[in-house]
Amino acid sequence: KPIVIAIDGHSSTGKSTVAKQLAKALEYKYVDTGAMYRAVTLYSMRHNWIEEGSADIAHIINSLPSIDINFEYNPEEGTNDVILNGENVEREIRAMKVSEHVSSVAKIDEVRKKLVQIQKELGDQKGIVMDGRDIGSVVFPEAELKIFMTASAGIRAKRRYSELKDKGEDILFEEVLENVEHRDEIDSNRKNSPLIQSEDAIKIDNSNLSQKEQFDKIII
Ligand code: C5P
Repeated sequence: KPIVIAIDGHSSTGKSTVAKQLAKALEYKYVDTGAMYRAVTLYSMRHNWIEEGSADIAHIINSLPSIDINFEYNPEEGTNDVILNGENVEREIRAMKVSEHVSSVAKIDEVRKKLVQIQKELGDQKGIVMDGRDIGSVVFPEAELKIFMTASAGIRAKRRYSELKDKGEDILFEEVLENVEHRDEIDSNRKNSPLIQSEDAIKIDNSNLSQKEQFDKIII
């Protein structure tokens, strides 16, 4: 039975940074479940099933058997890239236009069912660090360690804004802030496995912590 570390929390709280650090230090596998929801969203966007304010849910559900999601080790980054039907889409899924629609796709029951099933199977390793919104509550309720991360919306948006700017996206801070708040609202209020802090999770508010301070807090 693998040891599981579940990291959940709000959007852009640096879950993946912590998860990667932990996976590296412990030599565990790291799985970014948000990347999987983003890949399904990208697939749906390419088929024009998603438009401003609406999603063609029937088409998305019907296409699920044709959507194959895998991970492939990226030696340069030391992490896993997400592979959608054989294509490496790691870069494309991080774009703001995918962030704008991902929460509407992630609230579809059938989408969650499919991805949670894959995630449970990925747990079949020596040790695994998985980040997302429902890892400690739904995917691995028996996880050995659960961490719930949060930070003020303004700080999260600021961090995400500089990341996107670094990648060359032409974007306004206000758009990023709105997206972060909007996703949290949909993620927290959806009927199926909403984002909630498990009672047995350790809460970390990193509004005023550096990456190193945060890592030290978890390790100690
Ligand atoms: O982690 P990231 O911000 O990349 O996740 C993108 C979106 O995917 C979230 O805003 C949420 O809607 C969805 N998600 C989810 N459950 C997870 C991981 C992500 O619903 N376990």
